[in-house]
Amino acid sequence: MKFRLCNIETESGASAGVIVDDKVIEIASATGRERDRDMLTLVSNWDTILPRLETIAAGSEKLGRPVDSVRLLAPITNPGAIFCTGANYSDHAAEMATRSGLPAPPDPHSLGLRSWHFMKTMHCLTGPNSSVAMHPRSNKIDWEAELAVVIGKRCRDVREEDALGVIFGYTCLNDVTARDLQNAHLQWFKGKSLDDACPLGPWIVGIEEIGDPQTLRVMLRLNGVVKQDGNTSSMIFSVAKIIASLSRGMTLEPGDVIATGTPDGVGFARTPPEFLKDGDVMEVDIERIGVLRNTVSLKG
Ligand code: MG
Repeated sequence: MKFRLCNIETESGASAGVIVDDKVIEIASATGRERDRDMLTLVSNWDTILPRLETIAAGSEKLGRPVDSVRLLAPITNPGAIFCTGANYSDHAAEMATRSGLPAPPDPHSLGLRSWHFMKTMHCLTGPNSSVAMHPRSNKIDWEAELAVVIGKRCRDVREEDALGVIFGYTCLNDVTARDLQNAHLQWFKGKSLDDACPLGPWIVGIEEIGDPQTLRVMLRLNGVVKQDGNTSSMIFSVAKIIASLSRGMTLEPGDVIATGTPDGVGFARTPPEFLKDGDVMEVDIERIGVLRNTVSLKG
């Protein structure tokens, strides 16, 4: 079935909800089961909750609250892993090479290479409409709009032709990056994992509503100005190829998040380079998913 799932802030923490039109229903309230508050548990037991979701959604008149009356959190707050994909749009790979004074990278397919990856720590997850902290340790914080995959089944050595079958849904991710730390550390983990560096949301959209993940427009607006405007059709490695590559010899778990790379138009590569400043409003806007909006905030 088609669905949109979110996390609602409640007095006792995050609680999973299903969105029907402009209303949200807390799933645990509808089922009477405390464990249904946790999105990771729901994703992990998807086969049992799915048949009940339509019944739950049918109760939206009675149990539903307007989406804009609740505070949404990251749609999954405790994933086992946040995997990221590097340089997966050729225009972005080229702009980063140009800015760094390096030759444009060759097509990885021609080298027989597979998609390559790094990670962000789970601690830096934040939700829609939250603030993203600026940090005294970096003055080169940048944006990266990305389609994120949420894995729905424990899997390993997934064949490319089977890969879309292990996906639970999709959401928007902003791979916020401290460019100075990214470059200084010779690997990317720290520069990609400062506090608040992983806005995620606003909700998870099921695979049936998305259909082909390689047909989605991916945009980033900064203070209303379009900075990135790409399409997942331009990925070097498709979502299916990424899952096949990442899962070779490595188990993926339900709830794992995979960011699939960013199109060109990041701040670091612009002329002159642009970096985030206090009060900036970032909007990751992905077709058929929605808008993930965050405001940059200066913290000492
Ligand atoms: Mg990225």
